[in-house]
Amino acid sequence: MPKRSRAGTLSADIVVIGCGGAGLAAAVTVATGGGRVIVLEKLGTVGGATNYAEGIFAVESSLQRSKGITLTRDEVFKRHMESGNWRANPLLVRAIIDKSADTVDWLKDMGVRFVGAVAYFPGGPEAWHVVDGLGAGIVKALLKRAKELGVEICLKTPARNLLMRKGRVAGVVAEGQEGRALEITAPAVLIADGGFANNKALLAKYTTAGPNVIPFLETGKTGDGVQMAWKAGAAHEGEDVLMRAQPVIRTVKSLTPIAAVLDLPYLWVNRQGERFCDEGIVEQWPFPGHALANQIDQLMFHVFDEATKIYVRDHGLDLGLGTMIPPGTKIPDIDARLQRIIDDGEAWVADSIEELAVKMGVDAATLTTTVDTYNRYCDKKHDDLFAKDPKYLRPVRTPKFYAMRGYPSCMSTLGGIKINERAEVVNTHGEVIPGLYAGGNCAGGFYGGHYHLVTTGGASAFALNSGRIAGESVLQRLGIQAAPTHGHSTSEGEAQTASI
Ligand SMILES: Cc1cc2nc3c(=O)[nH]c(=O)nc-3n(C[C@H](O)[C@H](O)[C@H](O)COP(=O)(O)OP(=O)(O)OC[C@H]3O[C@@H](n4cnc5c(N)ncnc54)[C@H](O)[C@@H]3O)c2cc1C
Repeated sequence: MPKRSRAGTLSADIVVIGCGGAGLAAAVTVATGGGRVIVLEKLGTVGGATNYAEGIFAVESSLQRSKGITLTRDEVFKRHMESGNWRANPLLVRAIIDKSADTVDWLKDMGVRFVGAVAYFPGGPEAWHVVDGLGAGIVKALLKRAKELGVEICLKTPARNLLMRKGRVAGVVAEGQEGRALEITAPAVLIADGGFANNKALLAKYTTAGPNVIPFLETGKTGDGVQMAWKAGAAHEGEDVLMRAQPVIRTVKSLTPIAAVLDLPYLWVNRQGERFCDEGIVEQWPFPGHALANQIDQLMFHVFDEATKIYVRDHGLDLGLGTMIPPGTKIPDIDARLQRIIDDGEAWVADSIEELAVKMGVDAATLTTTVDTYNRYCDKKHDDLFAKDPKYLRPVRTPKFYAMRGYPSCMSTLGGIKINERAEVVNTHGEVIPGLYAGGNCAGGFYGGHYHLVTTGGASAFALNSGRIAGESVLQRLGIQAAPTHGHSTSEGEAQTASI
């Protein structure tokens, strides 16, 4: 258990900043080895964005083996590195991939249930380990184990500053109850604060997110840890990498059937009224995010007609959104739902394409040309411009005509603090900053320049595995042997008193 010395001061073997996937995985790992752990959490709830993850990446897992899936670590490693043009840190990538299967078993031992290992997109690797009860199931299991092991979790206690002595980490200053400063001394600190997707100023400075970007969630991701680490001399890595998601409607919750209508891969145009991508790329949802990022104001419109509206109402969605909105979902009340978005000023209906264009604020002649050309592609079942799969060629011909406006969205930032394969933070000379660790969304190096789906579920897998790796590094630093593998708790009575 952490020691309380005088009022407002605590000591521990490690202070973990952030009670999400990375923070909890590290906390359980260190506490399992007998280390004293304090977790600081800014919000009044635990789990951060990890609560929402639908599935985690793993390869050569027991689940895959039981299903006869023969995908190997080597194959995935090569594909992951190539997808990032070898800009990712290969040692870190290898460490995460190598640990991923064990982490699935580690979580299973704590009671997490995996529904299956599936491919997220047609032809993708069957490596997405879908969790029963979403990431919240993982958070619940880790939290339970952390509490059993005596981890102290301080809610509504944001970390504000790192304590540094002679270039080494010496602890954290947090904001305790009623705004009072709380000093915690510790030889190790893990930053696992989930990145900066909710900090507009940092997004504008370091990324191409643009002013219209809509974060999927507001979960206190303001980049506190990234800034603390940089101040302590940490090198930058990957702060420009965004986990872009499919376009979203500004006034509608993201994971709903009507939100999925915006992303149906029929006819999308930009503010000039021109097509800007093969709409079918939405099967791999980060792709349209990147395509949209290159458009003026990063705005798009899905243009469709009455026939398509009826098709969606009666036949259901051709493509869904993850596991929550599966393909085939029908929207019997699509008219009422569309009307609400029209009332919000984010969709329009008209009797002609010209009238629709005026309402959208798009040049009418250009939109008419785009629609006419697109309809010709539909007739001949070949998209001459972007070679879209013909199954997604639906003409826009039958009044009434509709347009929905889409904004760029972002689930997370995926980088900022440079770490090595042991999750130790390094400075610009590549030297370790003693005692400082980082994991999860705030740490760079897993994705080279952009997020992709080769390691589907990679963001949460990176959080969990980098958290475990950081925990093992801390145990090593404290002179404690890491627990060999998944999930055997050390009771409080057996806990070693670890200090350096
Ligand atoms: C809707 C949605 C769906 C997703 N689906 C998937 C998926 O299917 N698969 C996948 O791999 N990934 C998915 N992701 C991404 C994935 O959830 C995250 O990348 C990953 O879980 C992040 O883990 P983390 O530990 O880095 O951060 P988080 O889990 O966000 O935890 C960070 C914690 O730090 C806290 N914090 C912030 N600042 C401070 C401070 N100063 N002091 C103390 N605490 C602080 C935050 O409040 C938060 O609780 C999804 C994300 C979203 C939003």
